[in-house]
Amino acid sequence: MRELNEPQARHLAGILNIIRPDWPVPSLLTLIWEHRAQPDFPALVVAAVTKAQDRTCKTPAPIFTPGAHWPEAVRDKLPALPRCRDHDTEDAPTCRSCLADVKTGDRPETMIGKRLALPTPPVGSTKQANTSPAERIRSDLRAAKDARRAIPHPDPTEPPSPAKNQNGATP
Ligand SMILES: [Zn+2]
Repeated sequence: MRELNEPQARHLAGILNIIRPDWPVPSLLTLIWEHRAQPDFPALVVAAVTKAQDRTCKTPAPIFTPGAHWPEAVRDKLPALPRCRDHDTEDAPTCRSCLADVKTGDRPETMIGKRLALPTPPVGSTKQANTSPAERIRSDLRAAKDARRAIPHPDPTEPPSPAKNQNGATP
């Protein structure tokens, strides 16, 4: 299975954000990078743009689930979906329990299919005593989201310079 490179991921995130301004580029990048093992980049672009135009599709996660939005030729080559970290009977990107949590405001959209760690309240902290548990969870989730925002640079498989000196001669 080939992997997307970083420019491909960034371009795709940019295109999707233009079609769907409600899908922020950082979360798109995180999502695309988590699913960078792809059989075919053009097929992924088709699937992603198709889903982005589907107004009933509230989050970009279902892009990566198999379905009619993928070109037929690659449908049987799609990588298996990971299981939800919180609900292990569900596929992570489309976990129905997580989606229900999002609806009730108990889970941010960026945490669908992921472990929603509840922070333990610090003992004797006066600073946090005035904030509600919900606010503390939200602030912790923001911090977790920021931490995941950075895209790791892929290991270079080729030297960066396109120039090749095949015969070793110097001018
Ligand atoms: Zn879940």
